[in-house]
Amino acid sequence: MSIKIDSNKCVACGKCIDVCPGTLIYKDENKKAYIKYEKNCWGCTACLKECKVAAIKYYLGADIGGNGAKLHVEEKGEVLNWHIVDKKGKEAIISTNRKESNKY
Ligand code: SF4
Ligand code: SF4
Repeated sequence: MSIKIDSNKCVACGKCIDVCPGTLIYKDENKKAYIKYEKNCWGCTACLKECKVAAIKYYLGADIGGNGAKLHVEEKGEVLNWHIVDKKGKEAIISTNRKESNKY
């Protein structure tokens, strides 16, 4: 499991750095975020949920049936839309509400 950060989309807010429980994300010379220790990412998705510009993609590994699919999160108010895009570009969206997070 790991993530990839698109530096072109990153607006250098630093939120992913603040929430990563493994201290795996750092700032480059332009204050853009990058992951330093990819292999140590355990896929908690905290950084995905905090990135307001969907600059972070999460790779869904074969071990969970991901087969190369990628996940990113887009936020609309209290709702988080989890976009899963497979290798052929087919997309599925799962929506969760932050206020009801204890239900999931
Ligand atoms: S998914 Fe979790 S462990 Fe991995 S980089 Fe993001 S916040 Fe850190
Ligand atoms: S949360 Fe997103 S925009 Fe903010 S620093 Fe991280 S990758 Fe960049």
